[in-house]
Amino acid sequence: MSKLYFIPGSQDLYGEECLKKVASDCMEMVDFLQEKLKGIADIVLMPTVETSQICVEDMRKAQADDDCVGVITWMHTFSPAKMWIKGLQELRKPLLHLHTQANEKLPYDEIDMDFMNLNQAAHGDREYGYILARLNIPHEVVAGYYRHDRVVKKICQFARVAKAVALSHNTLVATFGNNMRDVAVTDGNRLEAEIKYGWEIKYWGIGEIAKLAGEASDAEVDAKMAEYESKYTMATDNIEAVREQARYEVAFDKFIEKNKVTAFTDTFQDLYGMKQLPGIAAQNLMAKGIGFGPEGDYKIAAFSSVCMKMAEGLDGATGFIEDYTYDLTEGEELELASHMLEVPASFAQNKPEIQVHPLGIGGKEDPARLVFDGITGDGIQVTLIDMGDHFRIICADIELVKQPKPMPKLPVARIMYRHKPDFEIGTAGWCYAGGAHHAVVSTALDRSDIAMFARLTGTELICIGDDTTEADLQKFFMPKY
Ligand code: MN
Repeated sequence: MSKLYFIPGSQDLYGEECLKKVASDCMEMVDFLQEKLKGIADIVLMPTVETSQICVEDMRKAQADDDCVGVITWMHTFSPAKMWIKGLQELRKPLLHLHTQANEKLPYDEIDMDFMNLNQAAHGDREYGYILARLNIPHEVVAGYYRHDRVVKKICQFARVAKAVALSHNTLVATFGNNMRDVAVTDGNRLEAEIKYGWEIKYWGIGEIAKLAGEASDAEVDAKMAEYESKYTMATDNIEAVREQARYEVAFDKFIEKNKVTAFTDTFQDLYGMKQLPGIAAQNLMAKGIGFGPEGDYKIAAFSSVCMKMAEGLDGATGFIEDYTYDLTEGEELELASHMLEVPASFAQNKPEIQVHPLGIGGKEDPARLVFDGITGDGIQVTLIDMGDHFRIICADIELVKQPKPMPKLPVARIMYRHKPDFEIGTAGWCYAGGAHHAVVSTALDRSDIAMFARLTGTELICIGDDTTEADLQKFFMPKY
């Protein structure tokens, strides 16, 4: 189970009695939060920071504990913030500044100087906020009484996002082949991605998968076929083409297990030793939380696995998608998003069909793929691009809709959505911001999840939605004169 360390702040000026009350209030708070975060993370109460030395010890423990995904801090009394400098410098994990109090209401009739000295988060948390700002430490501030639902919800959200940041730092993307020749937005600085997000991006030849697929036993392929038949409808007579995909997935499974891979890419331009482009194999793996990026897109492979982790425990689907084509009927504009094959099975509205069709690109045999219509509902489309001197996340609110008419001749899975606030501002905004044609769509996450991830990782964020205006478009792309 993931843990969040809870580190309260005080000082020794107020006497033993006060510190005992701080400790017991913190225990009560931690017990309450522990109950509310059950199944998401355990809350571990650490010794109250009264000196710089205690702060350093607490933060070192948090940093050294592999199960600890983040730290919650709160100043019960005034806690002079120079005491926090060296401790905070030890911490490289997501930090939540919980701006709260042990008491909800002011006891107007009873309040005296002792009460005011004991309960002075308004004072101590601002001193602490200053040092976080001064040290330029990315953090999230959650303000309000800790028992209020809104505050509990935010702390749960922090736990989910912190777990995603932890996964980010344990991400290994296996790139089979390189970036698709000549494509710009999928490429970028791999070194910077590892420095910034902890993504290890390692190259292997697709021949590794071809070799493992060739070694897959009949029993292993039979088991994978049984899995497909239990989840999907077999809508093809070309069983051998499907078995070929099952062989690929057996191979990916082994490779992922052996190399502790969390995400992978392939490209239709490098399929040496393969008969087909991986279709169902990739779609089925994505539905299990493995990140995927086609055409060598290592950023979206890593980012999609991070987003799937963030969405863990929430209703809805999350995964990779590519922008394809529009219905530009005036006032009713819609987008159709899909890919050559690799749309995650988690987006399926209906039971997916396994179909085999030619692929007009890549010059290989007809690949088996899952075909389905997409889910509906409110969602986001989010992508991460490399601007040369920094990364940028773009997050657009969208509404996933039912496709207006069947598309019987389109042999791939697809989703359709409406842009916000409207087609013109939504899509122009995405273009101005430099948004990629590969993205993650989620009906589980919302803008606030992505904003928290951006804040905790210190990433530039551009949001597009109902609150975006024509005037905002000017800010999304500012030429450097
Ligand atoms: Mn693509």
